[in-house]
Amino acid sequence: MNPRRIHLCLAHMSGNEQKYIDEAFADNWVVPLGPNVDAFEHDLREFLADGDPSRSHIRVAALSAGTAAIHLGLILAGVQAGDEVICQSFTFAASANPIVYQGATPVFVDSEPDTWNMDPELLDRAIADRVAVTGRKPRAIVPVHLYGMPAKMDAIMEIAAKWDIPVVEDAAEALGSRYRGHACGTLGTYGVLSFNGNKMITTSGGGALVCPDDASRARAVFFATQAREAFPYYQHEHIGYNYRLSNICAGIGRGQMTILDEHIAHHRRLAALYASLLADVPGVTYHDNPDKDTESNFWLSTIIIDPDLTNGLTPDALRLHLESLNVESRLLWKPMHLQPVFAASPAYVNGVSDSLFARGLCLPSGPWVTEDDVRMIVTEIKKCSTSS
Ligand SMILES: *Cc1c(COP(=O)(O)O)cnc(C)c1O
Repeated sequence: MNPRRIHLCLAHMSGNEQKYIDEAFADNWVVPLGPNVDAFEHDLREFLADGDPSRSHIRVAALSAGTAAIHLGLILAGVQAGDEVICQSFTFAASANPIVYQGATPVFVDSEPDTWNMDPELLDRAIADRVAVTGRKPRAIVPVHLYGMPAKMDAIMEIAAKWDIPVVEDAAEALGSRYRGHACGTLGTYGVLSFNGNKMITTSGGGALVCPDDASRARAVFFATQAREAFPYYQHEHIGYNYRLSNICAGIGRGQMTILDEHIAHHRRLAALYASLLADVPGVTYHDNPDKDTESNFWLSTIIIDPDLTNGLTPDALRLHLESLNVESRLLWKPMHLQPVFAASPAYVNGVSDSLFARGLCLPSGPWVTEDDVRMIVTEIKKCSTSS
């Protein structure tokens, strides 16, 4: 057994985080605003938009979680109680839960096989059908870049524009990924980032909403700070939230931004190694960039196992074998249209995410995973897939 546990993606500090936290304490900025929040937002904006003049307009609001960012994105998109919101089915529940916080109903749309993300053609058909069934358009669309792999955003944005529906782009797993040269998080009407403990970078917990201009960012911050109106007394005309990022957590974020590029390069190096070592393993397919448009950050490396070519190997049997060696792996996200809590939601499915869920596994990919770890893991996969 491996004495050191190999995790999927564990937080990794640069060493600069403590300095920013100490500054916050020294200046008594131990509150959900302050210089670290401002600087972290600045660094994120620069990372997403630098060198891309088509993105110079974007503004970033740092928040307490990616889930909070999705919620505020939906509010800014105008989602209200009784509305329907289209959401990618193949995702983590946090993509869909805020739709219900708003009193709206999620309508799930399945994936296409290239990127595993929202199928643009099925999206178009789903919208047309919702209009036919309910007489109203869905109020927003939530596509996801799952495991860091960019969705086919040009096609999705084209359909969204045709129907005039805003898009809340869930890039929680895709910080550093690019689609046709543009940073994920800047492709939708609004973009969502997450800095939870196991994402590309962490603030221990946190997120951000990427906004198209100063006015929408101000609106997001307004709702994130209890929707207090501009009066000398506390005047409220909307329901607000307490969603701002603390100045302490933002200090961690500033430190993390100094090693984000290194983290992305590391995830991609491991991905390339997995892909090359698995290339000659029958029945095991590495989920690689499908074409030149997509540049995944490979937040997690993922594989599909064909039981017919691997002596009936199931993802869970492989997971348990790796677990016995102290190696963490995880089944792919169970699609939302299969979740009991969303059983009453309409769903437009094509079998793609069902099949991925049945056959896929996530492999260790984070900053603490070494190339030797990857070689060992692939050796074990080969053992399992050739024995029975
Ligand atoms: C992590 C994640 C979120 C939520 O982010 P939190 O910061 O944990 O609230 C949303 N969507 C996806 C796809 C995620 O992986």
